[in-house]
Amino acid sequence: MNPADLARRFRRAAFLMSTPDHTKLPGDAGAEVAFAGRSNAGKSSAINAICDQGGLARTSKTPGRTQHLVAFALSETERLIDLPGYGYARVPMAVKQAWHALIDRYVRERQSLKGIVVVSDIRHALTDFDRQMLEYCQFRGLRCVLLLSKSDKLNRGPAMEVRRKVLAEIAELGVPTTAVVFSAQGKSGVDEARAAVAALLDG
Ligand code: GDP
Repeated sequence: MNPADLARRFRRAAFLMSTPDHTKLPGDAGAEVAFAGRSNAGKSSAINAICDQGGLARTSKTPGRTQHLVAFALSETERLIDLPGYGYARVPMAVKQAWHALIDRYVRERQSLKGIVVVSDIRHALTDFDRQMLEYCQFRGLRCVLLLSKSDKLNRGPAMEVRRKVLAEIAELGVPTTAVVFSAQGKSGVDEARAAVAALLDG
């Protein structure tokens, strides 16, 4: 698919629902790709840039909904799921456990889940959170797209070096991964990210 067609495909994204219970998500058929990221990694900005809609991922930041799964429809059969951001160490243990339980159930049971997009600040990749998400991919045999976000904060040389290093680490896990150097702010890597997410959806 050419970049213009890909852009059209993602621009169609529309909010479907927000729920703390994965069994309440729309029917488990078709294809779904989930976005994961540590709080502040740039996940909302990445979803908005990929879908070319400024306010799309705002719902997941609404107080009371920070532990929700947020579903967006791309078509009748394709969805993007915004997983709750993983908070900082300050978050109470009970909240962390609830987060783990929610992600665990969703990733284990959701048959339409085709792959996971892990958004990681290029200056901090890989974090323990990212490694944990890669382990989920390994466990379920899912493919991963790693968005190395906020790449405008690094020069091209160091950015490519981070990409090389993280791919070498991931190769050891055996999870098929595409790493994209990405900046929502600089709008760079957006076409590449769309192509990588579309490849997950298309299987
Ligand atoms: P989330 O918590 O993972 O959803 O992260 P957000 O998308 O809300 O972004 C967290 C912070 O990082 C915000 O202050 C954003 O403005 C900033 N941010 C997000 N993407 C970029 C980017 O591409 N470049 C830079 N420099 N900052 C970014």
